[in-house]
Amino acid sequence: MGNFCGRCGSLLRWDFSSGDRRRKCPRCGPVDSEGKNIDNPRDNVGERSSGRSPGNMNAISGSGITYKVRKGVSPRSSPYASRSIYRSNTTTIKGPELRSMNEWASQKEDPSSMNKDWSRAGKMFPFERIRPGQEEFLIDVRETVDRGGFLLANVPTGIGKTAASLSPTIEHAIENGMMVFFMTSKQSQHPIVIDTIRNLSKRSGKRIKTVDIVSKQSMCPREISRLPHTTFSFLCKQQSKDGSCPLYKQPPASLIREVLEDINDVDRIGELSISRNICPHRTALEAAKETDVLICDFNYLFSDLKDTILSGLGQELSDSILIVDEAHNLPDRIRGHQSKELPLRVLEEAKERAFGGKHIKHHLSRIIEMVLNIARKELGDEGEIELDKRLFVSDIRAVFQEGSIGGSLDMEMFIEMLEDISKKRRSPEEEDPLMMVADFLDGLLSLKRSHILYLKIPDGKGIDSLKIAFRNLDPGEISGPTFKGCHSAILMSGTLSPPSMFGDILGMSKERRIEREYPSPFPRKNRLVLIEDKITTAYKRRGAEMYRSTGERIVSLAGRVPGNVAVFFPSYSILHDVKEYLWGCPKHLIVEERSMSRTEKERVITDLKRIKQSGGALMLAVMGGSLSEGVDYKDNLLSGVIIVGLPFAPPSLEVQALRSYFRTKFGYTLGEEYSYIYPAMNKILQAAGRSIRSESDRAVVVLMEERLKQPRYLKFLPDDLRPVKVEGMTLEQATSTFF
Ligand code: SF4
Repeated sequence: MGNFCGRCGSLLRWDFSSGDRRRKCPRCGPVDSEGKNIDNPRDNVGERSSGRSPGNMNAISGSGITYKVRKGVSPRSSPYASRSIYRSNTTTIKGPELRSMNEWASQKEDPSSMNKDWSRAGKMFPFERIRPGQEEFLIDVRETVDRGGFLLANVPTGIGKTAASLSPTIEHAIENGMMVFFMTSKQSQHPIVIDTIRNLSKRSGKRIKTVDIVSKQSMCPREISRLPHTTFSFLCKQQSKDGSCPLYKQPPASLIREVLEDINDVDRIGELSISRNICPHRTALEAAKETDVLICDFNYLFSDLKDTILSGLGQELSDSILIVDEAHNLPDRIRGHQSKELPLRVLEEAKERAFGGKHIKHHLSRIIEMVLNIARKELGDEGEIELDKRLFVSDIRAVFQEGSIGGSLDMEMFIEMLEDISKKRRSPEEEDPLMMVADFLDGLLSLKRSHILYLKIPDGKGIDSLKIAFRNLDPGEISGPTFKGCHSAILMSGTLSPPSMFGDILGMSKERRIEREYPSPFPRKNRLVLIEDKITTAYKRRGAEMYRSTGERIVSLAGRVPGNVAVFFPSYSILHDVKEYLWGCPKHLIVEERSMSRTEKERVITDLKRIKQSGGALMLAVMGGSLSEGVDYKDNLLSGVIIVGLPFAPPSLEVQALRSYFRTKFGYTLGEEYSYIYPAMNKILQAAGRSIRSESDRAVVVLMEERLKQPRYLKFLPDDLRPVKVEGMTLEQATSTFF
């Protein structure tokens, strides 16, 4: 029997409810991989799924839920066929069913559902048990590396994606002389990768040569590593070249064997290196030439560093398997690296610091004058204006050609001169303005078609806060060639939804990619997702009346939830407007402030733990902030999450430019979804995902926004956030009944 439902293409799950072990589709119920009903072998799929919806979509129905499946595409007709499934509606359940959900919640999962199918999991899988969904993901990873393709996987929390992605890829890499790049956006993701590889090695009895590496500055044990980044980079480069770094005198060759003997994390590589007076980063890079797995940052292969890194390692991209963890962060990370800004203040400081260099001062004065002239003419005291890239760069070049003082020079020479002066006169305690100007001008020289260049004066701040900035709109320009050249790539995240969108944005060829969404392994009955459709943050409907209703609904619903409730708003401004109407709230109020430090945010978590037992707190925070994305609310710290509104990005030149660029590139509808709707929906997914962090957590999620009933938004919600409508009950009654 195959792993996928022959009717809707979903992954089949093991089902034990009838006493036997058998496959069941989470959407269509007991059907097999050929689409036949398991309870009734004579079932004819064609007759059962005869409903048709307009256009090129077929409607099929199972378990009372209606889905639309792309017409004419057999889910398994091609290994690279997309299997996107769009929900067209919310599910309706009856009140008594909700009561049953409550009873089921106290039952334990059947432990035999965790039994491992050893033949499929492979030789290296490190655990005795395989989790629901994990096996399917692992099989997809294996198929992907075997075929040399790409897997875009929306893998919910709890599936165990690290082990399932690493075991088949490492097996393939060792057998075929390849290297696995396990790439993350944060160093905090590295320890779990190291632990998993240790387990894989123990389990298989195979030596897996692994190197864990982070940035030079983080690994450097010298005092200069405390300096600002550009200063550190500059000094490190200079001192390693001229021999004045005491740790760069000795090559790390003698250490490499020792580093690769065990699976060492970055701290241990540091300890070993420092004990021999060797630069830790150099040791790690040298060891990486012989490694099977390199755990590193996205930047290694998704920035301008790629060619330098690969040639330094002596590694061909075509022999590299990439695993991109938390891959939903990749587009923004690439964009961030390709973007820069230069405040007018820095230009002026650079002019002041360029003492002695009269022509440098003169040229910097001319650039300042030119920028101020445009700003005064076009902006006044606030606002943004897009600049023509070619014209602006040629105007700047013209400044250097003037030759009134010190003779004419070109832009490249000017940049070198700034760097030279900076080298001689920089103050080590701070970012050097001369270097910042050089860096920005250098960036201007490599602007691509997908960059926008603009001047900006933030609202109410006046011309002194003027900035010149450029921003990349198309991460695919950097990631596309990397994916094209690699052997295969696994992109995984709990919020890679819809996966096809990430494939498009990152420039991954449709022919080589498969897109998968796996069901959450946590019991569905542990979460109740509701929609409050009388509330909206739509701009035209904002006002005291709407804020009052929102406040009343929050108080009324939160009162039915035992424990803590988090309410996430689209902005601080709406948060404060609604806060005025939280009259009679039975819970202790905790409010996130824009200026909160990291320590203060940690204190919020401590407070939630303390207050949880005594009636609970009502925490007000914003979507996109660290309380809605970075925090793991362990041990059922949140029993309720209320999402208020749709957090669309406020209008800005950059947002408009991105929308227009994507509409041109992907067509109007997809362009709007990718540039405008998805970023807002992702913030909702992140915030809602704070509620259920483990198998035993239980929570209610209320989506307070009428627009979320529309299919164009609803389709971005994965299965585990599928809202239900409880017949014959108010939201308050449903919430009370659930608990
Ligand atoms: S070469 Fe290594 S030890 Fe020396 S400054 Fe650079 S990172 Fe630090």
